[in-house]
Amino acid sequence: MENFNINKDGFYGDFGGAFIPEMLQPNIDELQKNYLKITESTDFKKEFNKLLTDYVGRPTPLYFAKRLSNKYKTKIYLKREDLCHTGAHKINNTIGQIILAKKLGKKRIIAETGAGQHGVATATVCALMGIECVVYMGEIDISRQAPNVARMKMLGAKVRSATSGSRTLKDATNEAIRDWIANPIDTHYIIGSVVGPHPYPDMVARFQSVIGYETKKQLLEMEQTDKPTHVIACVGGGSNAAGLFYPFLNDLDVEIVCVEAAGKGVNSGESAATSILGTEGIIHGSKTLLMQTQDGQITEPYSISAGLDYPGIGPMHANLFKSNRGKFISIDDDDAMKWGLMLSQIEGIIPAIETSHAFAVLEKMDFNRDDIIIFNCSGRGDKDLDTYINYFKL
Ligand SMILES: *Cc1c(COP(=O)(O)O)cnc(C)c1O
Repeated sequence: MENFNINKDGFYGDFGGAFIPEMLQPNIDELQKNYLKITESTDFKKEFNKLLTDYVGRPTPLYFAKRLSNKYKTKIYLKREDLCHTGAHKINNTIGQIILAKKLGKKRIIAETGAGQHGVATATVCALMGIECVVYMGEIDISRQAPNVARMKMLGAKVRSATSGSRTLKDATNEAIRDWIANPIDTHYIIGSVVGPHPYPDMVARFQSVIGYETKKQLLEMEQTDKPTHVIACVGGGSNAAGLFYPFLNDLDVEIVCVEAAGKGVNSGESAATSILGTEGIIHGSKTLLMQTQDGQITEPYSISAGLDYPGIGPMHANLFKSNRGKFISIDDDDAMKWGLMLSQIEGIIPAIETSHAFAVLEKMDFNRDDIIIFNCSGRGDKDLDTYINYFKL
């Protein structure tokens, strides 16, 4: 039978691996050799689970959305990652990586961030552990995302501006990699999604898999089955989706739905629908699908939600796409905004705009009355209020 997990060489089907400059080899070797040994140890699990409980606020509720279910004549549950400390699922991963870094004897953390959400989640866990934190961010993103820059500074992190190229996420990533090459012994690089060279995609998916495993347990209590019919999540790099899907990857009777950001429309030239627009190539050390020109230059993606405008998708998702295991749907800005407002008014939950994209599939797919649909409610909308206000002229 086909297996949708990672194989021992770090690949999901044709995708993944570690395509890195030679100077990064020692850093990646160290992680590849140690990540499972450490994260599977009793010691690690104890510390990780305790922090997820006491600090992050897990388990997050699995909430039956009654009014939404009535409206769409099916059973809809929301996995409430928006209730995590710092407002989204990203903290599950940064908690895991900071404990790993400590156990590897690292004294310093670096990260890169686009919208600033991963930067905030990283600065948070560095403050928690008392470890030095440097976050690279494109000069343009620094000016676009001022509140998150302030949060990172408030938490004690240093924010360094990437001033080359397009001065956005990919340039910040280049700076972070340069830093890591220069500081291989004492520094750990916390990547924020299921992207990057092996073992990052697998490591981050495992940390986020708490979302899916909790869902199974909670569903069993509420529906007397631990298998939904559909699991649905938005996909930027793919970490909240990977976390929800993880325990269901090889349950072929559970339909996996990935929702990408179409931006101003898939063919508008301003989009982030990577599975449709992307071709095979290498980005951030991993073989996957990415948006690129014919001569292999990365295309700048666009979405109204800063968390979804990444030019690639993680290798797990590239494989879900190519193998048809996952259904991929892309939702444009206007639809996403409409659904952000809809969820706010029908359930009293203001979602992050990333998350709003996922809900729009309720009008793109047909569901039966006794289907059990799980939406990953990846984050809360506080950070997006200005965007909602300007869009709806509230
Ligand atoms: C960052 C972010 C995403 C996108 O990242 P993934 O790795 O694809 O999960 C989605 N939702 C929220 C709320 C985010 O902050």
